[in-house]
Amino acid sequence: MVFPTFTQYRSGMLPCPVLRCTNPGAAFVVGSQGFRGCYREAYVCAEHKAVIDAGSLWYLDEHSVLIGLDIPPVLESWAARPSIVAEGFTLTLRVAGQTKPFDVFLTPAEARTLAMFINTASSDSLPVSNDFLMHKSH
Ligand SMILES: [Zn+2]
Repeated sequence: MVFPTFTQYRSGMLPCPVLRCTNPGAAFVVGSQGFRGCYREAYVCAEHKAVIDAGSLWYLDEHSVLIGLDIPPVLESWAARPSIVAEGFTLTLRVAGQTKPFDVFLTPAEARTLAMFINTASSDSLPVSNDFLMHKSH
């Protein structure tokens, strides 16, 4: 990451990093994210600084700031049941902000991969590698 110069900050040459925002940056916001509490900072416009100061969640994704509807919705509840049309499972997800739950079909292999991923991610030992996520078991 290239750190801008003081002159760039003063002249407002840097755009706000919030997705689709075209305002010039005006102030720093700092915080932490992730379960390991990684440090993050961003140079956002006055409008987004006010939104963040008011308590809105925000995340740093590469070089963009995600806020509001750009943040993936929180899972409120889920249910899984054996599928009646094929060997596998129907996973029903209900997420925050959506009135209707939606269903996804998982093959037994996909269900196992998902279970292994969740086990690994929740064990706080090794970080989940991309190799693992890219692994196709069928
Ligand atoms: Zn902005």
